[in-house]
Amino acid sequence: MIPRIRAKEETPHWQQQLTEAITNPKELFELLGLDPSNLPAVLRAGAEFKLKVTQSYLRRMEAGNPADPLLMQILPSGLETAGQPPEYALDPVGDQDATRLPGLIHKYHGRVLLVTTAACAVHCRYCFRRHFPYADSTASRQGWERPLEYIAQDKSINEVILSGGDPLVLTDDKLSKLINDLEDIPHLSRIRIHSRLPVVLPDRLTPALLARLNRSRLQTVLVIHANHPNEIDAEVTEQLMQARASGLTLLNQSVLLRDINDAVSTLALLSEKLFAAGVLPYYLHLLDQVQGAAHFDIERQEALRIYRELSHCLPGYLLPRLAQEEAGKKSKTLLGAGCG
Ligand SMILES: *Cc1c(COP(=O)(O)O)cnc(C)c1O
Ligand code: SF4
Repeated sequence: MIPRIRAKEETPHWQQQLTEAITNPKELFELLGLDPSNLPAVLRAGAEFKLKVTQSYLRRMEAGNPADPLLMQILPSGLETAGQPPEYALDPVGDQDATRLPGLIHKYHGRVLLVTTAACAVHCRYCFRRHFPYADSTASRQGWERPLEYIAQDKSINEVILSGGDPLVLTDDKLSKLINDLEDIPHLSRIRIHSRLPVVLPDRLTPALLARLNRSRLQTVLVIHANHPNEIDAEVTEQLMQARASGLTLLNQSVLLRDINDAVSTLALLSEKLFAAGVLPYYLHLLDQVQGAAHFDIERQEALRIYRELSHCLPGYLLPRLAQEEAGKKSKTLLGAGCG
């Protein structure tokens, strides 16, 4: 049978969509009509960090276009396995040093990050956690008890960030239990969920999930991750509007990526489309220098030039903060402020 991208009307429950994510490069090439001569390099790079992409995300790509900006985010590339400059590290942001317990990263004042699961719905090739030792570092495997105890004992913490991997691949049941436990810690006031699922698997934002988050005594911030305006189609917009209407605060973070979104017009359109879907731009990250991602990087001067121009064509509230994550710092480093 010739594979084909499933139409939206046929989409099953989000969990089934997740299990049906495409992981076989050959199948991806057939679905998108790509030139098979590139397949060997893709297979080689995919052996190290596997291809993974949802059908929903595939529907937003242009068939036959090897330079599609969404495809380039998920397609393993021979450039990943080419020699990497020495500054491209396995743990570029110092997560290991800030890991207090398996699954708990406490780097910044007032907030801790829980590594809830290793799984994601897509594998982004530039991901700074592509080498993260998830096997011994997720709280879900070890149980939440120790991280919860740590949070309960430190009254300076008022916000817990659920991250991963992607926390929204957890079932409603698991998430709800974790949120119950967090609600019992009196000094917490917010939960933040960092997730790419609203973009790559928008059906994940089910009415049941939104109702559970809405019911919480904790305020919930959902930080989504989109890098290119083509990621925000009607389906994604619709689901985000529902999330917004249910009372969530919606923010977006992007990574500045060579040949994907390193143009002022692209970034400006992304901000506009996010806002139309009820989402405010939050961070535009400089690439974390992780091994295998050097070909996505943009020189700092060039990044600042793009950012300065972007600041000239958007209202302040649609301008994301240009930021860089540096190991050992007390916050992310903001760049380009007051750049005239
Ligand atoms: C980015 C990050 C946070 C959140 O930082 P904000 O500036 O509040 O968005 C918290 N913990 C870790 C480990 C992070 O990398
Ligand atoms: S969804 Fe997030 S954590 Fe998962 S691969 Fe992409 S960037 Fe990395």
